[in-house]
Amino acid sequence: MTECIFCKIIQKEIPSYIVYEDEVVIAFLDISQVTPGHTLVLPKKHVPNIMEYDEELASEVFKRIPKIAKAITASNPAIKGVNILNNNGEVAFQSVFHSHIHIIPRYSEKDDFGLKWVEHSLSSDELQTIAQSIANQMEA
Ligand code: 5GP
Ligand code: ZN
Repeated sequence: MTECIFCKIIQKEIPSYIVYEDEVVIAFLDISQVTPGHTLVLPKKHVPNIMEYDEELASEVFKRIPKIAKAITASNPAIKGVNILNNNGEVAFQSVFHSHIHIIPRYSEKDDFGLKWVEHSLSSDELQTIAQSIANQMEA
């Protein structure tokens, strides 16, 4: 029997508030509603993080995001926008290791969602070195 809390939700072994479900994904309300309507979208297949998605799974999951985000937005006229987040690794605040995408409705700039976003100016040499090191890792 799986110990994954999200697999248990998918199997209906524990309850959740489902907003969408098909053969590939399930979307349900996050138990900790950062803002009302905060929804998690996840593949039914147990995949720990986004690095483990193959191209087909990525396509199948991400192509459903706009439809779900639009439904969330349309559900309440007070929703003015959404943040869409995907955390990978403990350092990036991932706490459940069944990959999932957060859709967080935004009601105002002063609602209960926040991101610390510190901007840095790097030299063009530094930017070029970073870009090249990433580009070197890309597969055709
Ligand atoms: P992470 O930090 O991994 O990106 O997000 C995990 C999310 O799962 C958290 O926002 C947390 O509130 C939510 N969560 C954890 N356990 C449960 C649960 O049993 N049911 C639901 N609906 N959400 C959960
Ligand atoms: Zn799982």
